[in-house]
Amino acid sequence: MRVAVIGAGLCGLAVSYFLDAEVTVFDRIGVGGGASGVAAGLLHPCPGKEGKRSLYADEAMEQARELLKVAEDAYGAPVADCSGIEGKEEGITVWMDRYLEGLFLASGAELSVELIDTIPEGFDAVVFTVGAGIASFCPWLKVDYLKGQLIECEGSFERSVIDEGYVAVHPEKVFVGSTYERRFESEEPDYERAMELLGPRVDRYGLKPLRALSGVRVCRQGHYLPMVFKLEENVWALTAMGSRGLLYHAMYGKKLANALMMSHHILS
Ligand SMILES: Cc1cc2nc3c(=O)[nH]c(=O)nc-3n(C[C@H](O)[C@H](O)[C@H](O)COP(=O)(O)OP(=O)(O)OC[C@H]3O[C@@H](n4cnc5c(N)ncnc54)[C@H](O)[C@@H]3O)c2cc1C
Repeated sequence: MRVAVIGAGLCGLAVSYFLDAEVTVFDRIGVGGGASGVAAGLLHPCPGKEGKRSLYADEAMEQARELLKVAEDAYGAPVADCSGIEGKEEGITVWMDRYLEGLFLASGAELSVELIDTIPEGFDAVVFTVGAGIASFCPWLKVDYLKGQLIECEGSFERSVIDEGYVAVHPEKVFVGSTYERRFESEEPDYERAMELLGPRVDRYGLKPLRALSGVRVCRQGHYLPMVFKLEENVWALTAMGSRGLLYHAMYGKKLANALMMSHHILS
């Protein structure tokens, strides 16, 4: 079975890992070229201001932990700090660059760096995990696009914190985040705007700001659970991870991979 996965972010790599197939991952930039590559890396079951426990949080956390282990084994070094986040002991800070690299290695997929603008031919199935790129393929989808920026800083900080925003501690880097910008003209980082919104917290923590990073979250309207759907026979999509990409990518990636393989098995 040959499968094309479009998008090498959290979702595309999770699906690729769980597929028992020959997988080619297409990405216009490369592994972590979208929101996953700039995520702060905070994984915990109770995001948001109210800190309410997310739906299916136990299963989602268990599967995310499993994939962390898989990625760590493939990467050959730790890919996350599992010692907890301040006030959220179940929390994990995932070091995104290492994790994505490890997950890609573990998936055994082939990477092709190219922009896809139509459904690729010559595959038994195609999976779109294109993040904000879904706007080009499904303009009718009821989702919102929210720009997020974070500030990469220099300085020492003991442990990741989630308060009115967050501080995520990575090896040799600290990220202060993040913004939720509904109206934006460019997806590119806007350091001045990011510092306007996040600068006071950077100062409060005594960190030295280096640069802004940005990405676009795809958020389902009226709910926070991701969306999985078929575009046509053997063409699937997984999107709308919102701010819970780390929480749900493993669980939904596995479910989609299983459904796809089952469907192929029944139809062939
Ligand atoms: C600033 C910021 C901080 C965040 N922090 C966290 C956090 O701490 N914890 C958390 O759980 N979530 C966080 N998120 C959310 C998280 O990043 C997303 O939910 C998640 O990364 C979405 O993954 P994805 O695979 O769906 O999309 P993406 O990671 O965006 O991957 C899509 C990929 O598809 C590629 N692509 C798009 N169109 C095409 C095309 N036409 N052809 C080929 N390739 C294409 C892109 O290059 C990209 O690599 C954050 C988001 C932002 C913006």
